[in-house]
Amino acid sequence: MDLQAIADDIVRDLSPRLGEGKVADYIPELAKVDPKQLGIAITTVDGKTYRAGDAETAFSVQSISKVFMLTLALGKVGETIWRRVGREPSGSAFNSIVQLEHEHGIPRNPFINAGAIVVTDIVLAGHRPREAIGEFLRFMHYVANDDSLYIDEPVARSEQRTGYRNFALANFMRGFDNLEHPVDHVLGVYFHQCALAMNCVQLSHAGLFLANRGTNPLTGFSVVSPRRARRINAIMLTCGHYDGSGDFAFRVGLPGKSGVGGGILAVAPGRASIAVWSPGLDETGNSLLGSIALEMLAARTGWSVFGT
Ligand code: GLN
Repeated sequence: MDLQAIADDIVRDLSPRLGEGKVADYIPELAKVDPKQLGIAITTVDGKTYRAGDAETAFSVQSISKVFMLTLALGKVGETIWRRVGREPSGSAFNSIVQLEHEHGIPRNPFINAGAIVVTDIVLAGHRPREAIGEFLRFMHYVANDDSLYIDEPVARSEQRTGYRNFALANFMRGFDNLEHPVDHVLGVYFHQCALAMNCVQLSHAGLFLANRGTNPLTGFSVVSPRRARRINAIMLTCGHYDGSGDFAFRVGLPGKSGVGGGILAVAPGRASIAVWSPGLDETGNSLLGSIALEMLAARTGWSVFGT
């Protein structure tokens, strides 16, 4: 299978549609990104990377960071994490508050904002916010095998200034005793993790451990156990695209996590880690062309967790 030709063809086939969708505009740094961009990077478990389009342009990973923070939190507290966050799809928007009251401040899953804020609170334990941000960034350097990754401070500051919904979620959960640290500390870390800048090539490297039984084949580093990698993939499949998760599973058939910056990390277990990026979003806040690119990739490679 010629993965380079597949990646090139996808970018070429989608080029007439560049600019479709709506770029996130809740902060100026995201609003000013040129929508007419599409990148794709595929890194296989034997360590080869195939790239096409804008695969080396850095973007704001936003909610894709939630996968890596979940991995860090599981490393700290193990399965006890599930006392504080569920693992069911929410069927609601990423920033929804509606289920939290009925469910006593326990968010549905770690990938909606409420759940990710709890996960960040767990990673913060025993640290100052600045140290937790440092730990996250070092972890990203380690999993991506790339020390050049950085957090985009202006993005983090804008998130902080406009994050009213996130403050509401965090205060609500603190009211139910499901946050241990002051809200501004937890959100300070959360906004910084979301502001991590990466390109598709770097992101496909960072996700590779999830495709390879928990071990990064580029470095030989064991990041998590095979069972934990399977479980993180399961949550990505069921919850990684908010109320678009069912549709993503149906169309693409691979675990995936989206971010409002237009990126998606997808995992083909035993085969490859794939990162796509295109800033225009669909109505569920997931990359419009990114999802279509992954749908094409899955169709053309036959990769699916549901059969051949
Ligand atoms: N920083 C964004 C927020 O918290 C992340 C949301 C997303 O990527 N879906 O609202």
